[in-house]
Amino acid sequence: MALEYDLVILGAGTGGYVAAVRASQLGMNVAVIEKGKLGGTCLHHGCIPSKSLLRSAEVYQTVKSASGFGVDIDSFQLNYQQVQARKEQIVEQLYSGVQHLMKKGGIDVYYGRGRILGPSIFSPSAGTISVEYDDDTKENDMLLPTNVLIATGSRPKTLKGLELDETTILSSDGALEMADLPASITIVGGGVIGVEWASMLADFEVDVTVVEYAERILPGEDDEIAAEMRRALKKKGVRIVTSASVSAENTETSEDGVTVTYEKQGEPHRISSEKLLISVGRRANLTDIGLENTDIKTADGVIAVNEFGQTKEAHIYAAGDAVGGLQLAHAASHEGITAVEHMAGLNPRPVKEEMIAKCVYSSPEAASVGLTEKAAVNAGYQVKTGTFSFKAIGKALVLGDTSGFVKFVSDEETSDLLGVHMIGPHVTDMISEAALAKVLDAADWEVAETVHPHPSLSEAIGEAALAVDGKAVHG
Ligand code: FAD
Repeated sequence: MALEYDLVILGAGTGGYVAAVRASQLGMNVAVIEKGKLGGTCLHHGCIPSKSLLRSAEVYQTVKSASGFGVDIDSFQLNYQQVQARKEQIVEQLYSGVQHLMKKGGIDVYYGRGRILGPSIFSPSAGTISVEYDDDTKENDMLLPTNVLIATGSRPKTLKGLELDETTILSSDGALEMADLPASITIVGGGVIGVEWASMLADFEVDVTVVEYAERILPGEDDEIAAEMRRALKKKGVRIVTSASVSAENTETSEDGVTVTYEKQGEPHRISSEKLLISVGRRANLTDIGLENTDIKTADGVIAVNEFGQTKEAHIYAAGDAVGGLQLAHAASHEGITAVEHMAGLNPRPVKEEMIAKCVYSSPEAASVGLTEKAAVNAGYQVKTGTFSFKAIGKALVLGDTSGFVKFVSDEETSDLLGVHMIGPHVTDMISEAALAKVLDAADWEVAETVHPHPSLSEAIGEAALAVDGKAVHG
């Protein structure tokens, strides 16, 4: 028997499950189909487990430097099994929270693979969806939704010809599950995930080399932020090789580890380490979901949508990593909510990438919203910038972490904020003020007029806003 729904969601990661909750709040009859676990990548293989490991690395470093704070610790040692156990416990706790949310919202959860079968006489709008089960004895379920949201997420990419064995050659999925720390690791890719792993493993005293294809690490961030991150990682002992391309050819694995070849300035180089982590981006999960039964278009391996998440088929929406863009959990949930509100006939704000904060949870952290200085210039703006270092911020001194700075990029003519970029302590929390300023279309002087509490790290935001016109007080 076919079951009717107002909305069926394929995939219950951050994009899918948050959209389901919002749809249920709006009175829709909702089903989600999940082939793995509720919570998806972010909860089980991404944001949460990686941030738990990063926090343990930070605690380890804090304990190491405790005598500087007047706390003498006779002896301490790292217990990586406990680091992993703590991570598991946090994930489990949040996982039961998501399960509870589905129950509370009256959302039907189907644990199987969802596939769009296309329109039928029974389902003239979004088409029939089948739910397929691993258990061959179980018949497929058939769902008839008015609307569909595709939120099938993404999986790690690898290099052509290089197989991820998740023992020696790892994706971030495998790296999260390592039972012990390796003595050494080569990280291929110096984007967000590569930088977070480099920072964490170096803080755990692993010998780390990052090999990046682009001219610099964090290619998507402002030049000054990327340069500061490079300095910070080098200070931790991370070796960084840029403009270098790793190839799968001549890769050798043995009991001791792995050796790969990279090419820099036309010269081949060999590099050996106990583990190899491939962090070269993620590929959207679009195979086997029945796109061929629809008119939905894809571009560059992701689903093409309008600014409300609507595909070529008016009743089929898509959100999260499946549509590309920033590929962040909070972008996925924002896109999911926007899609649901749009299908419900509400009038949501369109999704705009430049309003969404990007965060790197390394030590130091980095965060940004809006245009980099270079992107603003390339877009034709006359820009003015203001920078303020955490070195002159009392709270940073008290915390014992004065690394980094805040940088404002604004329009010379109107003073409108174009972008805000930060590197340093707790900036992934502080970026929300800049994101709010962007949503409210604020000018730099409006942020400068906001009274920032003292002592607080957020004073660096007020000072950077003042610095745009050369008026920083402590700079
Ligand atoms: P996913 O979370 O990938 O969920 C998709 C779900 O769909 C999965 O559960 C999958 O099993 C299911 N699915 C796929 N196909 C089907 C099908 N046919 N039928 C049924 N179910 C299906 N982002 C941040 O914002 N902050 C961070 O700190 C952060 N850290 C990260 C760290 C790492 C190591 C990684 C890998 C990612 C990190 N991200 C982070 C990115 C974030 O995890 C993703 O952007 C986010 O999970 C995307 O959500 P989603 O709902 O689009 O997809």
